[in-house]
Amino acid sequence: MTILLTEKEALDRAFKALRRSGHIARQNHCCCGSCSCAKISADVERMPPERRAKIAGAVHYDRQRGDVGPLRKLDLMFGPVEIDDVQYGKGHAEIAAAISEACAAEGLATFWDGDPSRCVEVLFQGAYSPVRIRVPSGAEA
Ligand SMILES: [Zn+2]
Repeated sequence: MTILLTEKEALDRAFKALRRSGHIARQNHCCCGSCSCAKISADVERMPPERRAKIAGAVHYDRQRGDVGPLRKLDLMFGPVEIDDVQYGKGHAEIAAAISEACAAEGLATFWDGDPSRCVEVLFQGAYSPVRIRVPSGAEA
């Protein structure tokens, strides 16, 4: 079965899959990167320890970045969440791999140069243009 999605819808689905696999995955979150990071740290700090221990990692972009514009790429901030020198979540490489896998499953290309201080980029064909993706028959659209 082939369904037609916009790249934005494909991205929404990738984020949903990342949430299902234990990631804190937020779109258009807060006004800028530093507010978004601070909010996620604060939320994790308030979680009960057993929930905190299950965090696979965090991936997010803020409203500034959410406006993809002519560059046709979206920078995703990602990584484990650190609170009081304790790290919650996996390492950068593992989280980046999970992000690129979730995006690839929705027909979206990503790039990361392996530097933990750099974002994972989602490379759009057009500014959120339609993409045709294949999903296994029986899967929800
Ligand atoms: Zn801000």
